[in-house]
Order: sequence, then C-alpha cells, then structure tokens
Amino acid sequence: MKKDTLLTNVNINENNVFPWGTNRRYNAFVDYAKQIFGSRIQKVIVDAGFTCPNRDGSKGYGGCIYCNNESFKPRYSDPEKNIINQVETGINFLSKRYKVDKFIVYFQPYSNTYAPLEHLKFLYEQALSHPQVIGISIGTRPDCVDEEKIEYLEQLARDYYVTIEYGLESPHDKTLKWINRQHDFNKWVDAVNMTAGKGIHICSHIILGFPTESKTEMLETAYILSQYPIDYLKIHHLHIVENTILEKKYRDKPFYLFTYKEYLQLVIDFLQHLKPEIKIQTTISQRNLDL
Ligand code: SF4
Repeated sequence: MKKDTLLTNVNINENNVFPWGTNRRYNAFVDYAKQIFGSRIQKVIVDAGFTCPNRDGSKGYGGCIYCNNESFKPRYSDPEKNIINQVETGINFLSKRYKVDKFIVYFQPYSNTYAPLEHLKFLYEQALSHPQVIGISIGTRPDCVDEEKIEYLEQLARDYYVTIEYGLESPHDKTLKWINRQHDFNKWVDAVNMTAGKGIHICSHIILGFPTESKTEMLETAYILSQYPIDYLKIHHLHIVENTILEKKYRDKPFYLFTYKEYLQLVIDFLQHLKPEIKIQTTISQRNLDL
C-alpha cells in the first residue's frame, strides 16, 4: 500500500477537520451515518434462529473457540418471536432510550445467510416492512454466501441500506486454524470480491490480541485489510467469555492478554496503518447489560 494512503498521512484543514468531515481523529461510522442519514440511527438486533456451519457439523462442531452468542444478545431479541415482533419490541425500547427514529435491523447471532434464499427473503423482507426501518445489516461467515444470494442483496440495496458483515477475525491462517474458524483467509477474499461493486456495504470483524500473533503481525492485519474493498471495520479485543472452548484453553494454559492501556495503544497504532476510507464501527468489545 502506498504510504500516502495511511491514516498518519491524511491532512486536516485550518479548522482541524479531517477529510471525513469531523475533527475526530479517525473515520468513525457513527459520524458517517449522521451525514448520510441526517440523524443518528440505531441498530435493532434480531435473532432469526440461524445456526452456523461450524456448529452443525457441515464444517465443524463446537464453533470458533471464543464463540458464545448468548454473551452479546439483548433480551428483546428472542428467536421464539417472529422478526416483525422482535423489530417492534426493539424499536419501542430503543426509541425511548436513545430518542432516535430510524433503525437498521441487525441480523447478528450465528450465520445469517445460512439458509435457502427463499427463507432469507422472507426474513429480511419482514424486517424491512417496518416503516422506521431504513435497512438491514447481516452478520455471516464468508463461506455462507453465493452468487444467487449476493444478486438478491444487490437488488435490495437499490431501495434500502444493506450491509453484509463478514467475520474474519484475522487474515493470518495460523490464527484461523487456532481459533477453529474452519475457513481460510482466501475464503474471505472470495466473498468480499463477490460482494464488491454491487451497492452492498461491506463490513468485516477482526480480533486483536491472539497469542498466535506478534504485534507486528497484528499491525500487518491493517495493511492487508486495506487492500480490499471493505467499507467498515469492527475491531474487537480478545477477551475470554465463560463457557467457551477458549475459556478452557486459557484455564489449562494461560497466555498473555493485553491490559486496557496496552490495547488502546495497539488500536491507535492499528488505525494509523489502516486505509483512512475504512469507517470504524467498533474499537473495543462492550456489552450494555441493560439491553
Ligand atoms: S462462525 Fe460465528 S457463529 Fe459460527 S462458531 Fe464462529 S463465531 Fe460462532
């Protein structure tokens, strides 16, 4: 990547405003969303009852070693209720709490494209039928999409805001193996290339702090991702959730975990190595226990 594409080399104007139109020192999705939607938007998480090929045996059993979907799901998203019901409950709750009136429905737990296309259409279109919903965001694995599904999302993206979030966690195959992802980096590259240029926003997730990687390799991740046409990035810190394989691994043989201060410095360094056009959705994992 050329040096002038790095965040460290972007210019600010005389009012300390960066090219993305704010004086925040990195390109944050929250600012971008306000610019394109005219006001703050809020995501409503729904649980559409999906599973994952890394859990049902088609790719593997047991899942990625850090995975526990129950650890981040808000109480209002309940797979026993249909999508319309979950969206209404979520919007009632969030509109009072955050005083917002526009929402993106976030299909978050498990792999939300892991079903036949007709079923996906049924679920996504239920979500989009709510008058306050302006779009959908779909979390999935890169091995759970195909040309047909992407073509359908391309059509939806002509009328709605559509984001697909491909979990990656690391571009280093040795780490993907260690976390039992059951796909390699090339699978992510294929999915991103299949999706790009079709009006669908592309987000990806990574985790910083794996004991399989040096700090240099973690910063290299920023360079690598900068080569691909992704719009957004979620950066999470490695943390150990109870009742995961990672918890057992850690208890059996503890490894180094960053302190909060060390992690903040790492994220700053990481952002300085990332293409500034990539908008940042998250810099640290957090859970609001009130939700
Ligand atoms: S792909 Fe996602 S849902 Fe499936 S096991 Fe890994 S983290 Fe969990």
